[in-house]
Amino acid sequence: MTELAQLLEEFEPVIGLEVHVQLATQSKAFSSSGTMFGAPPNSLTDPTVLGLPGSLPVFNQHVLELALKLGVATSSQIRAKSRFARKHYFYPDQPKNYQITQFDEPLCENGHLDLIVGGAIKRVRLERIHLEEDAGKNTHVGALSHVDLNRAGVPLVEVVSAPELTSSEEAAEFMRALHRLVRWLEISEADMEKGQLRCDANVSVRLRGEDRLGTRTELKNINSFRFVQNAIDHEIARQLRLIDGGGRVERETRLWDADLGQSAPMRSKEEANDYRYFPDPDLPPLVVDGAMMGNILRSLPELPGARFDRYQKAHGVAADDARTLVSERALSEYFDAVVKAHPGDGSGRTIANWMLTELLGALNASGKTIDESPMEPERLSALIVLVETGTISGKIGKEIFEESFKTGEAPAAIVERRGVQQISDEALLWAVVEKVVTNSPKQTAEYQSGKDGLFGYFVGQVMKETQGRANPVITTDLLRKRLGR
Ligand code: ADP
Ligand code: MG
Repeated sequence: MTELAQLLEEFEPVIGLEVHVQLATQSKAFSSSGTMFGAPPNSLTDPTVLGLPGSLPVFNQHVLELALKLGVATSSQIRAKSRFARKHYFYPDQPKNYQITQFDEPLCENGHLDLIVGGAIKRVRLERIHLEEDAGKNTHVGALSHVDLNRAGVPLVEVVSAPELTSSEEAAEFMRALHRLVRWLEISEADMEKGQLRCDANVSVRLRGEDRLGTRTELKNINSFRFVQNAIDHEIARQLRLIDGGGRVERETRLWDADLGQSAPMRSKEEANDYRYFPDPDLPPLVVDGAMMGNILRSLPELPGARFDRYQKAHGVAADDARTLVSERALSEYFDAVVKAHPGDGSGRTIANWMLTELLGALNASGKTIDESPMEPERLSALIVLVETGTISGKIGKEIFEESFKTGEAPAAIVERRGVQQISDEALLWAVVEKVVTNSPKQTAEYQSGKDGLFGYFVGQVMKETQGRANPVITTDLLRKRLGR
């Protein structure tokens, strides 16, 4: 049997994702029932959701607004007149026996999503983004099956990537990028534990250098970033082993079982014509006019990819830090606010440092989100200024941060009250150095006879004498002068 690593040198994985994202509307896509997660089973239904004879769908216009934001943010082509279609299948979670979706005239096509891979942006093409309704949920308890139709009719966008992802890491990154973007645009909470973002992964392998795509399988039911990666890795390995053993990959749909860590065939792949798609006669075409587009364009915030670039280019922030800063819109907005409050330019890297270590650390420890931060951007800036101007050392700065974070007191006031200003007065420091050296004849002799490692001892002594307030640069300077090396 050939090693997996060796097979991967010969073969290239190709992955395309179909991601479903629930849109955060108050009411359902085609009726007025609520969409609240966790409501008592079947409490959010109405004749349309139940598919009762004579009921008719009425489109919730808010769904279109939210979907358009995503379309514009992914630079998609927006269809001025798109159409809803019926996709027929029989299943208990879908009482009317068809799902309202979009088929050959989707709302968005040919967009792209920017992933951050290895410190750089990778742009992945999106074949389409279309609107559809979610189905209900079946749960099986022993011999009993329960159907909850609360989720039926909740609006979804389905985002379909081109087959351009080449590893499970990239696929997981695609999910993260989409998760970040929909939250950024405030069109979905995208809570994966609530099934608000979930994906099907299409996986194939082909000989490296080959243009044609290999036969794919589709993995259903993936609902966490980790599972995306595990399920795809597992499927790539399964296909490679199959081919290595002289077999052939069959076009099929497989179900990923996260508990077992393996997939099993679910059904052979259905074709579009199995679903008997046709335009939904109950719904008029979906029209997007210039005024709507104008509003969306005006309301669009700077996007994570652009911000990631800007933080590096305009503020000198390291790629890893920039990536963390844009992981959440509120975090990047906090950074922008500190930069804005801060005197001069060129402190971006320092500000990012303080935010990602001290601020995030303190927020984490107190179980708060960035939105709940008791430390305002202006106050953090004021603290950083104290360190940058040498009023306090970086080490003392961290203590002041902690206290200010807890009590809300202004950093300068704490410094004043505690009397921890850094000592930069050379005459004063010289006296301390003199005292330390005189009191350490043994260490002085050893240092002067070549034991360089002892220098830290002297710095430490000076710090001890000054309660950590000695300016370290000047202290080092004076010590070298005094010790003669
Ligand atoms: P369907 O609607 O039957 O699932 P599509 O042609 O719309 O099929 O493709 C759905 C997804 O499958 C897309 O994300 C696409 O990128 C991906 N895909 C298509 N062919 C392949 C392939 N050979 N290998 C991997 N992914 C693929
Ligand atoms: Mg599919």
